Amino acid sequence: MNSPKYATSCVERFLQYVGFDTQSTEGSDTFPSTPGQLVLLKRLRDDLESLGLADVTMDENGYVFATVPSTSAKDVPVIGFLAHVDTSPEMSGRDVKPVIHRNYQGQDLLFPDDPDAAIRFADNPHLEAQIGNDIITASGTTLLGADNKAGVAEIMGAVEYLLSHPEIAHGPIRIGFTPDEEVGSGTEYFNIKAFGAYCAYTMDGETLGELQVETFSADAITVTFHGFNTHPGFARGRMVNAIKVAADFIGRLPKDTLSPETTAGYEGFVHPYVMDAGVEKTSVKLLVRDFVTAGLEEKEELVKRQAAEAAAAFPGSRAEVHVEVSYRNMKEVLDEHPDVVDNACEAFRRAGLTPRIEPIRGGTDGSRLSFMGLPTPNIFAGEHNFHSRFEWISTSDMHKAVEVIIELCRVWEERTQG
Ligand SMILES: [Zn+2]
Repeated sequence: MNSPKYATSCVERFLQYVGFDTQSTEGSDTFPSTPGQLVLLKRLRDDLESLGLADVTMDENGYVFATVPSTSAKDVPVIGFLAHVDTSPEMSGRDVKPVIHRNYQGQDLLFPDDPDAAIRFADNPHLEAQIGNDIITASGTTLLGADNKAGVAEIMGAVEYLLSHPEIAHGPIRIGFTPDEEVGSGTEYFNIKAFGAYCAYTMDGETLGELQVETFSADAITVTFHGFNTHPGFARGRMVNAIKVAADFIGRLPKDTLSPETTAGYEGFVHPYVMDAGVEKTSVKLLVRDFVTAGLEEKEELVKRQAAEAAAAFPGSRAEVHVEVSYRNMKEVLDEHPDVVDNACEAFRRAGLTPRIEPIRGGTDGSRLSFMGLPTPNIFAGEHNFHSRFEWISTSDMHKAVEVIIELCRVWEERTQG
């Protein structure tokens, strides 16, 4: 393994942070959704303070913010780095025991606590690039939590390095650690004004070199079919069965296109995923996804037309269509601030990486933050197989992520007119 350009304690910190049980949960009535997240957030507040940061805050919702002060005489825009502390509700994050597989040689990775399981080299194409590196996994019964404690540790490593190397010129750097990303509410109480940055970067992407600047645009549609229910023994000529109308509607949706199971890349879809069925009333919930708003509208028109056609085929029934905005492609916002992505690409190149820009077929905290006024692309953290017992990360990718953060701080300073 090549020694890192910027030596930091990011790996040691990571090994400590994964020991905190910070699993988030759906349907909680508290914020954050679980108290374990606050334990790690307090620890991070303390760690930032012991590094010497003067303005560390933890607000009533658990968000931890801090500033690495500027070392430049120029008026450099404030940039931020974000990571979330919670782990997925889908897999246990309790008693995580990290295992370090040193000097990886292309073998299957085995687990001490589950001898039957293995991360197979043949099934994990990204392992090929890790020959000679140290790889960290969990012990076989839990997830690892690299999503997103790798991002947390990389940011901490960069902070530590910048503070001990004041000769590196950079502007004010804001740090933010957030809860509940995995349950979709990580931005709910994010105080954009208090964060006070021009832009930010989430350190929550997968493979070395990934830079994500595009997400789906998403809406949610509810189609409600109204029928007429009456005693089935006396229903002739009177009953109108809303279940049959809904089934007819579903049958009209395209079968070979426009669905999650038939699309990839930049293709969008219409996806019925929940049905609440009764004779009197049946509602169908659908997700609509595309990368451009016009594409969303087209799909919504299709749903409206086919719902009306289905209702027309059953005299006495009618259809109601309700569309709700979920989130929008962050590219719409980033296009207005080209420096945010340009500077990131330059930082990647200085770290010896070719930025790989690929669309995310989903949303991120960054897509919501971008529309809240904080343009926020996503940078790789090195996480693989996240939300799984087979999660892994290489320490060499973690060091590269630290390098990208530090280079990015330098690029912003250099490109500011003095
Ligand atoms: Zn994540």
